[in-house]
Amino acid sequence: MIDLHLHLDGSVFPDTLIKIAKKENIILPTYNEQELLKFLQCPIDCANLNDYLTRFELPGLAMQTKYGLSEVMYDLLKRLNKQNIFYTEVRFAPQLHLKKGLTQFEVVEAVLAGMNRAMKKYPIRAQVILCCMRGKDNHNLNFETINVAKKFLGQGVCALDLAGAEGLFKTSMFEKEFEFARKLNIPFTIHAGESDSIDSIRFAVKFGAKRIGHGIRAIDDERFMEYLANKKIGIEMCPTSNLQTKAVENLQEYPLKTFLKKGILVTVNTDNMVVSQTTLKKEFQLLEKELHLTDGEKRKLLRNAIEISFADEETKKELLKKVGR
Ligand SMILES: [Zn+2]
Repeated sequence: MIDLHLHLDGSVFPDTLIKIAKKENIILPTYNEQELLKFLQCPIDCANLNDYLTRFELPGLAMQTKYGLSEVMYDLLKRLNKQNIFYTEVRFAPQLHLKKGLTQFEVVEAVLAGMNRAMKKYPIRAQVILCCMRGKDNHNLNFETINVAKKFLGQGVCALDLAGAEGLFKTSMFEKEFEFARKLNIPFTIHAGESDSIDSIRFAVKFGAKRIGHGIRAIDDERFMEYLANKKIGIEMCPTSNLQTKAVENLQEYPLKTFLKKGILVTVNTDNMVVSQTTLKKEFQLLEKELHLTDGEKRKLLRNAIEISFADEETKKELLKKVGR
């Protein structure tokens, strides 16, 4: 299986968090794994995306040092390997990890160290996507992220993203960032059409996004869906997360099957394994149950993931071989 949309800070497991907290004298509300999980996972009655985003605060405390960042990435890949994930692109925003004095460059270096350590030990292949953040006063931090991405591009970093509160800070505000990314030839995906309208996706596509995170609102325009299919722009869908943030009311109105029928390169991903308490296997089981996803459709989703991944052509060929025709 392949996961292309997975946030590092939404996938910090209680045992990892406790281990780092003890070593770095970080105060947690509890040091019991089961109890701690309650602070990390999204409640079933989560109000919206902004409420969902509050669950990232505790993991953030343990991701401010080289040790913490490296451990979080290592432990995640170790778990993913056990879940039969053989390729993944893990994303995080370097600018959120500067509270103890690291530079964005050092943050990325530390995460990549954890990634390389895991890849030496386990057969999993991974790359990272660096997120720029939606916000009012952080354009300089975003430009720094883009510069750092360029330095590590092809050496563990595969792309850029734009994350954060889409409803509050519109995609259109970040044109300059992606103009710069395009100039540096860094591919990117953008979270769009999750808690904002189809216009958010239109802007992302106009900026040159190769993929769209969530992209649910694309369903609102027939012609635009055809355009996405023709341009081979991938959509990274995350069903459980989309239910929790109320991006959709229920799975009956989930546009995944329509996207498939339209020929859009849609994929299924987890978004945040701990915050959403999910695995890729669970996501597929949910879709089988609620949308009657067939084996043929599942194979198509997996092949789509390979096609839209930011892996190089050689890796894509290897991955295709692995999953069979
Ligand atoms: Zn996301």
